[in-house]
Amino acid sequence: MQLTDLLMNEGLAQHGGPKTVTSTFSWPLYDDTEVEAVAAVVRSGAWGNPDCAGLVAQFEQEFAAYCGSKYAVSCVNGSVSLRLALIACGVKPGDEVIVPPYTFIATASTVVEANCVPVFVDIDPDTYNLDPRAIEAAITERTRAIIPVHFGGQACDMDAILDIARRHNLRVIEDAAHAHGAEYKGKKLGTWGNVGSFSFQSSKNLTAGEGGIVVTDDDELYALMNSLRNVGRIEGGQWYDHYNPGCNYRITQMQAVLLSAQLQRLEEQTLRRDENGRYLNELLTPIDGITPLTRGHGETLHCYHLYIFKYDKSHFNGLPKNEFVERLAAEGVPCFRGYPHPLYRQPLFQQKNFMCYALPESVDYSQVLCPVAERACAEEAVWILQHAMLGTRQDMEAFAEAIRKVQRLS
Ligand SMILES: *Cc1c(COP(=O)(O)O)cnc(C)c1O
Repeated sequence: MQLTDLLMNEGLAQHGGPKTVTSTFSWPLYDDTEVEAVAAVVRSGAWGNPDCAGLVAQFEQEFAAYCGSKYAVSCVNGSVSLRLALIACGVKPGDEVIVPPYTFIATASTVVEANCVPVFVDIDPDTYNLDPRAIEAAITERTRAIIPVHFGGQACDMDAILDIARRHNLRVIEDAAHAHGAEYKGKKLGTWGNVGSFSFQSSKNLTAGEGGIVVTDDDELYALMNSLRNVGRIEGGQWYDHYNPGCNYRITQMQAVLLSAQLQRLEEQTLRRDENGRYLNELLTPIDGITPLTRGHGETLHCYHLYIFKYDKSHFNGLPKNEFVERLAAEGVPCFRGYPHPLYRQPLFQQKNFMCYALPESVDYSQVLCPVAERACAEEAVWILQHAMLGTRQDMEAFAEAIRKVQRLS
């Protein structure tokens, strides 16, 4: 073949060659059902619901039923939902809360907002979830809670985490922002700990643009979170009587109906991503230098908010991860290099920019090192985004082919 042919037919898309993946993937997915539901609320004039009743309560009941939990309390986003859970769980200033370092900032920054100390515990290299083997060593007499994150939609080892929590009398708040509809041992994520917290931000598997929700089976936690999200009002109380230090964290009725409609699509989408993820594992495992995160840790349904594989540049002619990801994205795979650093490296923690929050002087994040999270950020982790996991089997085959092409031409 002539060099020009090679460039035309086989060259990297980054260098002007044809893209391997020709499908496009959009998100969110909706039709007239969503448009009409929102339009009906707009026409009704009842855009807000200061009582958290009506359409907001209706969505909460639907979501609680879907998860199999007794209660759900919606709120403005998946950060505030973590905050509601932490405060309701009774954390006090200076208490320690165990979090993973490989997650979105909110998992740890809400701990700071609650005047508590995030303690970072490394992740398991097979799943990128909080490593239960490392949790116990991090527990002190000030530890009050653990926030396991079901990263990318894969279940944490909840049996091990709940066992540790029971033995040390700790609260468990599941950060299920990636895990709507996913299951561990046949039971929905978010329903294993004391509280489960979800986000409805635009990128999440269930979205209304913004929004969040907590689920719980505990009557007291429910009453407190319900009060905290509605300016400290209590059930049966007067309109201008405020009992708890909450704010107005309520969602609109437009969000509520959008979420009700989107919830109808969630089960089918979750099953499709799970099936595509299993297939992509089969396709990628034989490729040298590509190792998908492993399954078989109790997750009976993985919702693949992120499909994650580990990249080893030594099988790609030394191509750095970020350059690999750019080439793969140019081939049409909706992918991302993920977090650049473990959370403790963020200026927030390194400089302890905690504003008025009362953290002990002794806390020093410059000494924290979680090697698995470091490696994931710097060298290893590549994410394929959830909306791409809603594609066809042929799309999964095209993703694998794109990786092989980048390997051949690097
Ligand atoms: C998105 C996300 C959150 C926060 O959700 P917002 O709705 O954006 O506030 C919390 N934890 C994790 C792991 C997330 O990915």
